[in-house]
Amino acid sequence: MSFKTEAFVLKTRPWREADRLYYLFTPHEGIIKAVLKSAAKPGNKLSGHLLPFSKVRIMIGRGKMDHMAGAAVINDYTNIRTDLKNMSLASSVIELFLNQEGGGYSQLEFKLLEDLLTALDNQDMDQENKMLFVRIFLWKYLSLSGWQPQLDNCQICDKEITFGKYLPGRGIICREHSSNQGVIINRELVDFLKYIIKVDWPDLNNLTISKELNREWLKISQLFYQSVYERPSQALKLFLYG
Ligand SMILES: [Zn+2]
Repeated sequence: MSFKTEAFVLKTRPWREADRLYYLFTPHEGIIKAVLKSAAKPGNKLSGHLLPFSKVRIMIGRGKMDHMAGAAVINDYTNIRTDLKNMSLASSVIELFLNQEGGGYSQLEFKLLEDLLTALDNQDMDQENKMLFVRIFLWKYLSLSGWQPQLDNCQICDKEITFGKYLPGRGIICREHSSNQGVIINRELVDFLKYIIKVDWPDLNNLTISKELNREWLKISQLFYQSVYERPSQALKLFLYG
């Protein structure tokens, strides 16, 4: 059996003698691994197409081990590969995807990754804005992965609130709950978080954020990532302090 699918090339490595193994992210199955036979032999037409970060259309042959029967590039995001800063941001995001293993139906994550790579590939966007996009990406991505922060009700007493304290990994709580947990979060930031999680990317192109709000957001973001990821990866260090 074989099937066609779109995919992002996440990673590739040598496999057996002259083959290559590809880690691909697909909308319907999440991550799949597929072997390209004789990739290292001169004259293999497919292997040259399949660079990391590329969006490709591929034909997968199902077997004990999936193999690649055909491939065509849809977008190779050239500008990512030719700029070290873009590349390190893209690699960090890819690392998060690789850590998730499998994943099943992933249409929304697929679209999210595409939007982000498109932004990183955009030469008219400055580095500061790209960093902003990556941070927004993380909130969106984690929200899709079951870590959506609860920002409408207190996570302890369920009262409807619009600000209070932020409890990492969960959401907001009333200020008056006597607990050492949580840090103060103001209404502006709560509204901002709701907005970036909900809104589509095109609307984010004109996003402006005050220095003060940005500082508060960075602080909350660090607590959020730390509560989700036990071991801070290279990726997160970059997003947090880059
Ligand atoms: Zn409460």
